Amino acid sequence: MGKFKLKCLKCGREYEQEYRLTCENDDSLLRTEYFEKKLELRNQPGMGKFHSWLPVKEELNTDAGPITYKSEALARELGLSNLYIGFSGYWPEREAFTKTCSFKELEAYPTMQLLKETGGKAIVLASAGNTGRAFAHVSALTGIDVYIVVPDSGVSTLWLPEEPTESIHLISMSPGNDYTDAINIAGRIAKLPGMVPEGGARNVARRDGMGTVMLDAAITIGKMPDHYFQAVGSGTGGISAWEAAIRLRADGRFGQKLPKLQLAQNLPFVPMYNAWQDRRREIIPELDMKDAKKQIEATYANVLTNRAPPYGVTGGLYDALIDTDGRMYAVARKEALEAKALFESLEGIDILPPSAVATASLLKAVEAGNVEKDETILLNLAGGGYERLKEDFKLYQIEPVAVARHPDVPLEELNILNI
Ligand SMILES: *Cc1c(COP(=O)(O)O)cnc(C)c1O
Ligand SMILES: [Zn+2]
Repeated sequence: MGKFKLKCLKCGREYEQEYRLTCENDDSLLRTEYFEKKLELRNQPGMGKFHSWLPVKEELNTDAGPITYKSEALARELGLSNLYIGFSGYWPEREAFTKTCSFKELEAYPTMQLLKETGGKAIVLASAGNTGRAFAHVSALTGIDVYIVVPDSGVSTLWLPEEPTESIHLISMSPGNDYTDAINIAGRIAKLPGMVPEGGARNVARRDGMGTVMLDAAITIGKMPDHYFQAVGSGTGGISAWEAAIRLRADGRFGQKLPKLQLAQNLPFVPMYNAWQDRRREIIPELDMKDAKKQIEATYANVLTNRAPPYGVTGGLYDALIDTDGRMYAVARKEALEAKALFESLEGIDILPPSAVATASLLKAVEAGNVEKDETILLNLAGGGYERLKEDFKLYQIEPVAVARHPDVPLEELNILNI
């Protein structure tokens, strides 16, 4: 017998244990149903301890994983008595060893492992930044092939805390091509035999990997938090926290009330915030992200600028917000920068821009009375410790193996594939 099955949230169709991103009948998200209903921690140093609810057969053996601790200084500043910080990044003093410095790494381990267990050969993605770095790092550690396509401007964000390996195939693009062009090429590579796309929010391994932040919080606190704060671009982290909470509720030992999702976007690009303020399931581009390109350029936390988030899809962020009576915030650049400085001086670790946005939303929530002072709050800081990492590690730049001149370039011309 397998460990889980996949279930479509719209038509109910079930699938066996496989690397599957879509239902054959509709466009709903699939969700993992684990046969183990009680979370039984495994003896692993990092996220592998949550094996019960990760869609892989072999336990993940890595020291990377989410950590949770009770805040003192920031909590005192805000007058909160039960503020917990969920931190994904590098902070060895608190046993946080996620060396690519974001919770994207928590998605990469189970995704690469599931790929291996289901007979896939390589994973393909278009990403400059946290996702690309996370998958490249796991490729370097496991030897599983990854193809990463990035526009020229993204190459410098792809560094590693170890020497890059031949399993990492970085394809850059000539200047003038943008992220959409990179997605186009990645899409074509992913159609080749043995290649699979990483799938974003559609990939249950990614969601359940990110969900370990909520699981770690629940076991550290002893129950689910009342509130969950995070900055969102695709909203996948919010969906994952909600799904993890649904599993914890069924477990029975962590409370019956789902944490209220309190999620933030960064002004001026706030499409999900706008749609949610109107309680609309659909994002209407002319209303919710007018002049998207300009807005994106003006946004400080550019990781949060996804133009096609899994918001309205069945099982997506809209459903998560409805089910948890959620709330959304629009945070200005100045508010984020102030929150970043406050957090770093009080808690003693550097955080990435999206985490600054999340912190700013907590400050706004306290001010507006959207949380009670003694309620249990989880602030998910999904990225940080980059400055701390540089003190301990030499960072290596990943060099491109090919440069694509334009999005329609024939793949043979790139000469990257053993085909
Ligand atoms: C990707 C990312 C986010 C946004 O996550 P989603 O839930 O996918 O929108 C927030 N913070 C950091 C550090 C990230 O890398
Ligand atoms: Zn279906």
